[in-house]
Amino acid sequence: MNCPRCNARETRVIDSRIARDGLAIRRRRQCMQCDYRFSTTEEVVQEGVVVIKRDGRREEFDRSKILNGLRRATEKRPVDVEQIEMLISDVMMGLENEFEQEIPSRAIGERIMEKLKKIDQIAYVRFASVYKDFRDINDLADEISALKKEHG
Ligand SMILES: [Zn+2]
Repeated sequence: MNCPRCNARETRVIDSRIARDGLAIRRRRQCMQCDYRFSTTEEVVQEGVVVIKRDGRREEFDRSKILNGLRRATEKRPVDVEQIEMLISDVMMGLENEFEQEIPSRAIGERIMEKLKKIDQIAYVRFASVYKDFRDINDLADEISALKKEHG
């Protein structure tokens, strides 16, 4: 994204907000060269996106499913809806660039976990326990010790 004033290439994002109920992300940017500030809107393309499930079946992408899963995982945690919406939009934008029309559900789950881990570790463990289908307390313990190692 070039600066509309001086056409410099380097800009940095100073603020990101969710718009149109999660279907777009508005970013406030600042030119690294002339400090000019401007906004961009990135659309999340969701129409016609198909998710390939682990058993190979395909189904239409359903944002509300992910939203509900994340809401459960973040219950009583200091994570607000805006953060969740942002997380989903960010993940889907990245995946749409990478996969275009058909996105493996595994990629969605993993990308979400990656980002959730940085937002709230308790929510991450909750989400992972459902997503990864932990079979017993040992799976859970393994995940937590991996998390501890990662964060020292
Ligand atoms: Zn500029």
